[in-house]
Formats: sequence, C-alpha cells, structure tokens
Amino acid sequence: MNMAPCLFCRIAGGEISADVVFSDEEVVAFRDIHPQAPSHVLIIPRKHIASVTDLADEDAELMGRLFTVARDLAREEGIAGDGYRVVVNTGPGAGQSVFHVHMHLLGGRHLSWPPG
Ligand code: AMP
Repeated sequence: MNMAPCLFCRIAGGEISADVVFSDEEVVAFRDIHPQAPSHVLIIPRKHIASVTDLADEDAELMGRLFTVARDLAREEGIAGDGYRVVVNTGPGAGQSVFHVHMHLLGGRHLSWPPG
C-alpha cells in the first residue's frame, strides 16, 4: 500500500473537498481547480497509479473506463457536439504535476494544435 499523501487519493477518499461531477466504485471526476477551458474536468481511477508509465496490463479495462466516463461527461457538459480534448500528461517533461494518473477533459473553447 502506498502511504504517500497523494492529493488525488485524498480527493477520491473525500478527505479533501473537490467539485465532484461523477463518482462510482472505480472512478472519480472533479473540476480542475485551475481550469484551462470553460469545461475542465479531471477523471481519475480510485486505484493509485502514478502515471501511464506505471500502468500494469491488468489496468487496461480500468483505464478504458476513464474514456467512457469522459464520453458521458462531455455530453453532460454540452461539449460533445463541438468537440473536446482528453489529455493525459505523463512525466514532468510533459507537464504532469500530480503523480496519480488522470485524464483532463477540456472543452467549451477552440483548442489549437499542436499543444504547447
Ligand atoms: P497535471 O499537470 O497534468 O498533472 O494536472 C494536474 C492538475 O490538477 C492541474 O491541472 C491542477 O490545476 C489540478 N489540481 C491540482 N490540485 C487540485 C485540487 N485540489 N483540485 C482540483 N484540481 C487540482
């Protein structure tokens, strides 16, 4: 068991409050505290996995659920029609700052490509 005080484990456990928009036994989604778009939701597994690099093969189905939750939330947020982006920053060089794997769901404005 990982005893490190992981911020997102604490949010998933209800120890730190967040604006939770979805929660079930496997996945929690909450609004990013520093939104980068009109809709900016973070989708996490309750299981502590530090990053994509740390995924086990057995995590494949769980990670797939992040996508189906993103699909449903995009509809609820009203951004499914125009389009949205799902992003998983992986490692410090890619901007990952919280080492509990999470998917950003971003939408509600034009998103340029390539990303910075
Ligand atoms: P990343 O930089 O990809 O690791 O994303 C981490 C995200 O977590 C950033 O977009 C932060 O704004 C967000 N964040 C950090 N602390 C909190 C918090 N307490 N509640 C909600 N979002 C947070």
